[in-house]
Amino acid sequence: MNYFAYKKGDMHAEGVALKTIAEQVGTPFYCYSAGALRAAMGEFNRGMKGMNASVCYAMKANSSLAVIKTFAEMGAGADIVSEGEMRRALAAGVPANRIVYSGVGKKPAELMAALQAGVGQINVESVAELETLNAVAGQLGVKAAITIRVNPDVDAKTHAKITTGKKGNKFGIDIDLAREAFAIAGKLPHLNVVGVAMHIGSQLTTLSPYQRSIRKVAKFIAQLRSDGHRIDRFDVGGGLGIVYKKEKPPSITDFLAIVKKETKGLDCELTFEPGRRLVGEAGVLVGEVILVKPGASKTFVIVDAAMNDLIRPTLYDAWHDIVPVRQPRPGAATIRCDIVGPICESGDYLAQNRDLPRLSAGDLVMVRSAGAYGAVMGSTYNTRPLAPEVMVDGTRFAVTRPRPSIDDMLAAERFPSWMERPKP
Ligand SMILES: *Cc1c(COP(=O)(O)O)cnc(C)c1O
Repeated sequence: MNYFAYKKGDMHAEGVALKTIAEQVGTPFYCYSAGALRAAMGEFNRGMKGMNASVCYAMKANSSLAVIKTFAEMGAGADIVSEGEMRRALAAGVPANRIVYSGVGKKPAELMAALQAGVGQINVESVAELETLNAVAGQLGVKAAITIRVNPDVDAKTHAKITTGKKGNKFGIDIDLAREAFAIAGKLPHLNVVGVAMHIGSQLTTLSPYQRSIRKVAKFIAQLRSDGHRIDRFDVGGGLGIVYKKEKPPSITDFLAIVKKETKGLDCELTFEPGRRLVGEAGVLVGEVILVKPGASKTFVIVDAAMNDLIRPTLYDAWHDIVPVRQPRPGAATIRCDIVGPICESGDYLAQNRDLPRLSAGDLVMVRSAGAYGAVMGSTYNTRPLAPEVMVDGTRFAVTRPRPSIDDMLAAERFPSWMERPKP
């Protein structure tokens, strides 16, 4: 089912016209379809039937409380990378024991907070972290359940900034060196080694990197067991890709089937940490055209959504489909244009060299597949308030994060005591 579609000439999110939201909330705004979120999570749940497996949603992709709660209601735990994310997961009703704490640089205070809250699993990425965590757990008089994240040295064939499972990436411990790390962990009194974790990259559009990695890790698990470790869990990570342009990512069902096949007989409880796949296509960014500026070689369509709202085109050379919210007439003439924001950076664009129907000031445009790594990467550069977030469910919609006022933004700052206050 298509959760964002034209109805009677206007783009809708499920049963709500985006222009109705724009009238009430203003632009730019993010809009998430609860139906699309539930459909993706439902496909995981169906595919995992009969497997000893569960999903811990990688909430860095979209950490909106309403989004996390939508998944938690369907049984998902959370994969977190900071104390802040832990607090969000707990606030959204995720049980602490369903939280997995990942990340390459956790601070002692963050590890302490995680253990105090009772998170279910900490994925350790270095020997130094094993020692820090052991010390923190010792202070609290607890035993921390851990996996060690290994780097299987497999090329995920994705963008350089989001590949994580190749030798030379900062993530995990090289699989050739990890045996030693497990030996060290096994001797630390406040750690309980429960398994192995991996996460090889993001926006993977083929299954073979998973297949190769799982085979390597399965061999490694056999070796660990013969070394006397009790390995009960295998955290497969996330990374499954979505459609931005014309990618053909595998279905969730096919992904799970491959994992099931490759882990057969391994006798491990599996954890999946999907982020992008659960939220990416379920969200859009809506902006309004401020003005159209014809240039010598192409036209610039300047919209009120910018790189501070969606940095993926600038950061990852990402391609996002952009469509007018008012449905163009069939066969309407198009013009070659760049869709750009108002920010003072040449890198501030949402799309370049697109053929779009003629747009004018006041028209709304929708940026597709913006639900993952969109709002969460937003900034207030140029003192632009963070774009609000809206959730649609059927014919209802709600603002789940309002747009801060500029007064709110200024009120968060202080002058040093030695400065004279500006006169009002
Ligand atoms: C980012 C991340 C994920 C989620 O990646 P997606 O590509 O969004 O699925 C899962 N696990 C870990 C450890 C991560 O860092």
